[in-house]
Amino acid sequence: MSMLAQPVLVLNRLWQAIHVTTARRAFVLVYSGHAQIVDNSTGTYQTHDFLSWHHLSANYSGDDVVQTVTFRIRIPKIILLLIYDRIPKREVKLTRQNIYERDKNTCQYCGHKFDRTQLNLDHVIPREQGGKMTWENIVCSCIPCNTRKANRTPEQAGMRLIRKPERPKWRPTLQATFTKTRDESWAHFVDIAYWNVELGD
Ligand SMILES: [Zn+2]
Repeated sequence: MSMLAQPVLVLNRLWQAIHVTTARRAFVLVYSGHAQIVDNSTGTYQTHDFLSWHHLSANYSGDDVVQTVTFRIRIPKIILLLIYDRIPKREVKLTRQNIYERDKNTCQYCGHKFDRTQLNLDHVIPREQGGKMTWENIVCSCIPCNTRKANRTPEQAGMRLIRKPERPKWRPTLQATFTKTRDESWAHFVDIAYWNVELGD
């Protein structure tokens, strides 16, 4: 992974974790004055603008740096946005990953849990009958159940959903991103975000 693709935690002005971005994007935000770098390597939280971070990087010996012939700068782990006050309201996107998370990798017909590779996405009301790609009409289904149901509604196939599919009230992408790519230095902010993140619409 390129150094510039390293994950960087983004805090809003209230020091709440809201997002994970790349080092490349973080540098753009800091360089343009829209964000500052948060460093807690000394045990306290200090913020740096681009210049002060650049100066600090001169004496840094780690290898998480961007290095050119004339230039050396350390990759930040956390940045603090100076431009937004609020956690942006974001809809849970209808993605394969989010549907699997909502349904907990469980076939919504037989109720068994599967590896993700063993699950399909099923249109409850088939496309041929006007079923749409929506939270209310897409569920996880194992391959045997999917095959049995074929292009029929559950009623037509004599099958029942274990749960009525709905738009999730939580924000799975945010949590998933935080837990998958978290750096040790993020722990303080991510743990707070876990408990404080706004639920519901
Ligand atoms: Zn099944």
